[in-house]
Amino acid sequence: MPNSSYSENDDRRQHVNKPQKLLNSGKSFFASNSTIEDVISTSHHSKDFIQTRNQYIVERLKLVCLFFAISVPLSSLFDFIAFENVQAELLLVNRLILSCALIGLCQLIRRSNTVNMTRLVLTLSFLFPVLFYTATELSLTQTMAYRDIPLSFTLIPYLIVAMLGLFPLTLIGGIALLSVISLPLTILEYIQYSGNYAAVIDKLWLLVLFGGISLWLQSGQMVMLMKLYRESTIDSLTGLINRRVLIRQIEAISKNSNAVQKSFSIMMFDLDHFKRVNDTYGHMVGDQVLVKISSLLKWELRNSDVIARFGGEEFLVVMPHLELEQATHVALRVADVIRKSSVMTDQQQEVTFTTSIGVTQYIVDEPIAKLFKRVDDLLYQAKNQGRDRVENTPVLEPVELVAS
Ligand code: GH3
Ligand code: MG
Ligand code: MG
Repeated sequence: MPNSSYSENDDRRQHVNKPQKLLNSGKSFFASNSTIEDVISTSHHSKDFIQTRNQYIVERLKLVCLFFAISVPLSSLFDFIAFENVQAELLLVNRLILSCALIGLCQLIRRSNTVNMTRLVLTLSFLFPVLFYTATELSLTQTMAYRDIPLSFTLIPYLIVAMLGLFPLTLIGGIALLSVISLPLTILEYIQYSGNYAAVIDKLWLLVLFGGISLWLQSGQMVMLMKLYRESTIDSLTGLINRRVLIRQIEAISKNSNAVQKSFSIMMFDLDHFKRVNDTYGHMVGDQVLVKISSLLKWELRNSDVIARFGGEEFLVVMPHLELEQATHVALRVADVIRKSSVMTDQQQEVTFTTSIGVTQYIVDEPIAKLFKRVDDLLYQAKNQGRDRVENTPVLEPVELVAS
C-alpha cells in the first residue's frame, strides 16, 4: 500500500475546522465580492491572483520605465531655456544617469519577473527619480535660490507620487512605497531647513494630498483588477474556479511534481442523468443541485485540493500529494455524501442525485492532456458500467460502490 498522506484523522480535522478551511483555502476570495482585507494586503489573495496582478504590474512597469527613460533626457531641451547653461548641463548629466538607471531596471524586469523582483524594481523605479531630484536640487541650490528654481522642477516629487496611482497596489504596499520615497525628500528638507517651518508644512501637506490621491487610485485599480479577474476566472453559479484557471493551476502542480518526483491525483465528476433533473423539476432546481454539489465538495475536501467547475455538470478536483489508492477512497466518500444529500423544490419535493467519478494518478513527466484523456475515459467507463460509481486507473481494480 502506498504511503498514506490522507488519513482518517485528516478527514476528521477538516470537519472540525470547516469555517476556517473556507477562509484559508482562498475560496472565500473567489466566491465573495472583494473585501476590505483584499484591498489592504495580499494575505487573502490566491496564488493565481498574485501571479496575475504581478504580470499586470510588470507590463505597466516596463512601459513606465521605458517612457521615462526616453522623456527624462528629452526634458533637457526645456532646461536649457529655463536654467542658466551651467545648471542645464548639470541637469542633463543627472537626467542621463537616471535614464540609464531606468533602462537597467527595464532590462532587469524583462529577465526575471518573480513577485520579489517586481517589488524590487517597482521600488527602485520610484526611488531613483526621487534620488535624482534630491541630488539635483542640492546641487542647484549651491548656485541659485530655491525660489528661483522653475516650478516644473520643484513639482517633480509630487509628479512621482502621483505616478504611483498607475499601479494596482494594496494599501500596505502603497504606503510602504510612499514611505520609501519620502525618506530622501525628508532628508533633503532637513538639510535645507532655514527656519521657515510654514514652507516645510506647506510642502509636506501637498505631498500628503498627492499621496492620498495616489493611494485612492491604486485601490481603485486593485478593485477593478479583482473584479475583472473574478469575472474571467470564477464560475458565477458555484463560486468555484473555472476550467481556464484549473488548467493553469494543474500545470503549476505538475511542474512541481516533476521537480520533486512526486505524484498527485485528480478526479472528474459528472452528474448522472442531470438532463432528467432539469426536465423534471426545471433549470432552477438543476442550478440548485449544482450549487449543492459544489458546496459539498468544498466541505468534504482539503484546503490544498483544487476544485473546479470543469463544464456544465462536470467538476474536477486535483489532490496534490495524494496517490491513487487514497484518492479513490476520497472519491468513494464524496460519492456517498452526494448520494445521501438532496435539495428541496418550492413544492417541497425532495430531489436526490448521484455522480459518476473517474480517478487517476499523475505519472511524473507525462503531458497534462494525457492525464485529462485518462480521467475522461475512466468517467466514460463509469457511465457505461451503470453510473453512480467510481472508476480508477488499472493500477487498482475498479472499485464497486457498496450500497449503504
Ligand atoms: P449522463 O448520466 O450520461 O451524464 O446524463 P446527463 O443527462 O447528465 O448528461 P447530458 O450531457 O446529456 O446532460 C447534461 C445536462 O446538464 C444538459 C444541460 O442542460 C445541463 N446543464 C449544463 N449546465 C447547466 C447549468 O448551469 N444549469 C443547469 N440547470 N443545467 C445545466
Ligand atoms: Mg456531462
Ligand atoms: Mg451528466
